[in-house]
Amino acid sequence: MQDKNHHSIIILGSGPAGLSAALYAARAELKPLVFSGLVLHGQASLTHSIENYPGFPEGIGGEALGSLFQQQAERFGAVVEYDQVTAVDLSKRPFRLETYSKSYSADSVIIATGADAKKMNIPGEKELTGRGVSYCATCDGWFFKGKDVVVVGGGDSALEEAIFLTRFAKNVTVIHRRNELRAGTILANRAKNNLKITFIWDSIITEIIGDETVSAVRIKNVRNNEERNFKTDGVFVFIGHKPNSEIFKGHLEMDERGYVIVDKLMHTSVPGVFAAGEIADPIFRQVVTSAGMGAAAAIQAVHFIESLED
Ligand code: NAP
Repeated sequence: MQDKNHHSIIILGSGPAGLSAALYAARAELKPLVFSGLVLHGQASLTHSIENYPGFPEGIGGEALGSLFQQQAERFGAVVEYDQVTAVDLSKRPFRLETYSKSYSADSVIIATGADAKKMNIPGEKELTGRGVSYCATCDGWFFKGKDVVVVGGGDSALEEAIFLTRFAKNVTVIHRRNELRAGTILANRAKNNLKITFIWDSIITEIIGDETVSAVRIKNVRNNEERNFKTDGVFVFIGHKPNSEIFKGHLEMDERGYVIVDKLMHTSVPGVFAAGEIADPIFRQVVTSAGMGAAAAIQAVHFIESLED
């Protein structure tokens, strides 16, 4: 007999992927259970204004959009629990999941636990996030029209986003901790040839300064330890992403960076376990693409559950 904590579909994560999956699974009358994770509505909820999600021509706050996603999923019967899954056993069905307080089982699991942009963990970074500090040029670049911004990092993401930011910003200064870029030659050359982009080499930011919004950064040259303040209106940090996949290690196939590998139908390496959104997407990382992946994962999970009933 199934216990009362058994569900057809359990969804991990309450960002765009998780809640879109919940909407589709709920509309298939499967009453999905969603675990919110630590950040209710995910990373997107931290964005001041989302202007590239279709249907909101004036833009919408990240938290407001997350709440609408949740309301819509709940309207059809999804249940959102404010809890986090801390351990899983995906070796046999029903799958077992542990949260801080309870054990659950499920016929199918959709993993939408996202990825976090790596942080510098320096003074001012947390306090000024959303007020000049950003981890997403596509989301926030527009707010820096005619302004000066710095980009932190020397990889492909940093340079791609630096080039993108030149559409808006007056000057883009890339600050890299070495004197050699990690990025590939094509992007490196494109950035170096862009007249709006300048580089500060061998340097790290030790503090982000500003009252209401960012006004400067403190830069330290790592070769001679000299420090100085550098005026800027914005700080874009691209020092890599970290998928939230720790608890699935040993259970699911992942790439070398820890992203869960899925096929076009959002199947992971374990039948009945699907993944959607940034946990499985190191490339696009947009609300709209994550929502699409979540919907696709739920459609497949519903087929999977139907196949169990045959
Ligand atoms: P990445 O390649 O890991 O580069 C991270 C950059 O941030 C490196 O330059 C690194 O410096 C720097 N960094 C790391 N931690 C730092 C810290 N605490 N303080 C200051 N700087 C720090 O990450 P990514 O650029 O996000 O790229 C991830 C993957 O996606 C890569 O494989 C990349 O090729 C791929 N990608 C490809 C494209 C494209 O082809 N168009 C676009 C985006 C991403 P060091 O160099 O000194 O380690």
